[in-house]
Amino acid sequence: MTTIRLILCDQLSHNISSLKGIAKNDFVLMFELMQELTYVKHHPKKIAFTLSSMRHFANELVKNKHKVRYIELEDPANSGAFVTELQRAIKETSAKRLVVTEPSEYRFLELLQSMAIESDIEIEIRHDDRFLCSIPDFKLWAQQHKQLRMEYFYREMRRRYKILLEQDGKPTGGEWNYDKQNRKPPTKGLIFPKRISHQKDSITKAVLELVHRKFSQHFGRLEPFHFAVNREQALIELDHFIAEVLPDFGTYQDAMIAGEPFLYHSLISSYLNIGLLLPLEICQKAEQAYRTGKAPLNSVEGFIRQILGWREFIRGIYWLHMPKYAAMNFLDSKQPLPEFYWTAETKMFCIAEAVRHTRDYAYSHHIQRLMVTGNFALLAGIDVAQVQEWYLAVYSDAYEWVEMPNTLGMALFGDGGIVGSKPYAASGKYINKMSNFCSKCQFDPNETIGDNACPFNALYWDFFARNKNKLKNNARVPFVYTTWEKFGEQKQKSIREKAVQILLDMQEAKL
Ligand SMILES: Cc1cc2nc3c(=O)[nH]c(=O)nc-3n(C[C@H](O)[C@H](O)[C@H](O)COP(=O)(O)OP(=O)(O)OC[C@H]3O[C@@H](n4cnc5c(N)ncnc54)[C@H](O)[C@@H]3O)c2cc1C
Ligand code: SF4
Repeated sequence: MTTIRLILCDQLSHNISSLKGIAKNDFVLMFELMQELTYVKHHPKKIAFTLSSMRHFANELVKNKHKVRYIELEDPANSGAFVTELQRAIKETSAKRLVVTEPSEYRFLELLQSMAIESDIEIEIRHDDRFLCSIPDFKLWAQQHKQLRMEYFYREMRRRYKILLEQDGKPTGGEWNYDKQNRKPPTKGLIFPKRISHQKDSITKAVLELVHRKFSQHFGRLEPFHFAVNREQALIELDHFIAEVLPDFGTYQDAMIAGEPFLYHSLISSYLNIGLLLPLEICQKAEQAYRTGKAPLNSVEGFIRQILGWREFIRGIYWLHMPKYAAMNFLDSKQPLPEFYWTAETKMFCIAEAVRHTRDYAYSHHIQRLMVTGNFALLAGIDVAQVQEWYLAVYSDAYEWVEMPNTLGMALFGDGGIVGSKPYAASGKYINKMSNFCSKCQFDPNETIGDNACPFNALYWDFFARNKNKLKNNARVPFVYTTWEKFGEQKQKSIREKAVQILLDMQEAKL
């Protein structure tokens, strides 16, 4: 009996569950789908990275003596859609069984489940054991806790995997979390490590030519193209990060600097999300760096928390709440996404810089995503679905399971407090403290009402004022309302008028 082993575009791991027990007659099915590359207009770098990584992975499977049916984008028979390509493969190979690792995104699971009902092929969907907390385990954890907070989930994960854990069960160094040491603003004279740029082989060159030809209308610059496209190269990236960058990761994790998109971040999310790197190996290598005295505890713990804590927690939340989660818009945000998210043409230096990084690298680091582009969208009340579509399109690491809870939940508070206990709303003062952006901006972060006032400031107060009914009972924000009340009626009125003017300027492309 012929069995199809289906590998989706983010399942490029040789030890993935769908390949376990593969028999000689089975064949691996992979396809490049126009529908997937265009359902949101993905950044050309992301498309090139994905296609080149898929083609490299397929070649490795062939070298390992597996039979592979690989359908390229420009194959004349390629219908470009998931279900029809799957049906065609089943028909042409007379396969009776399909084995697949659970898709990372809900819509694919739905498609597979309905195919299982409608067609006479047997479909086996296996757990994705590359994640460190299975979906059923997360659901169980959620049932046992009244409030789902990442910090407590993370501690359990540390215990489960014995990461940064002493023999007596206590956290290494005595604390679970060293975030207090990880919020330093940028200081002058910081030197940032060089990043690796990988040689382009003939596969990558062919893909770049294809992407240039077919997707040049999408937002973002295709070249220079610096990505690793196979596991060997991704491991080089990881080792380089651990040796050269990790020691300073923690201290300046929240800092932002003009002209410096990467600072001390790892740049590994794309490799992790596509399967070229695995979360446990990364955490273990980082821990090893601490144990051998090569990196301090605040950096190593902070980094491990992102992967063992945040990444797994975010995935758990997605599967716990889908499909309802996708439609949430707790604050009823409705403003259209301003054009400057695509053009970088705005007087607000912080936004322009974040959009430029995004355009050039298909990357911007977490604090820019959360506290600049995300924060502005939150304060201005931009429509949740439109903001989400932007985040899904522009980053090379964007997949719905991780993008959605981060955007809808963490950045926009669209889930009303499932991911974070309070909105990540901040005024220009925060951005001024954590970056050197404001010194290059024509607005003044210390002003709220005047002509030169930083738009984030009036929008910040207006955000809390207009959402008072929904936020006033949030235990983590009452100090905001105490200060707001102290302003008195006249000042409140001026601030709200200023906010209205800012939103008008935004709509008329004058901001
Ligand atoms: C609005 C918004 C949208 C985001 N969209 C995505 C997305 O589509 N894909 C994505 O992988 N991450 C997303 N993130 C999370 C985070 O910003 C990126 O993982 C990180 O910037 C990737 O860069 P890095 O590899 O240099 O990360 P580092 O700062 O070096 O962190 C190390 C790793 O920790 C993990 N991590 C850190 N924070 C998170 C988080 N909040 N959620 C999940 N994993 C995390 C990532 O795997 C990352 O590679 C988003 C965050 C925000 C605020
Ligand atoms: S002054 Fe305001 S708009 Fe300008 S960079 Fe600072 S925070 Fe951004």
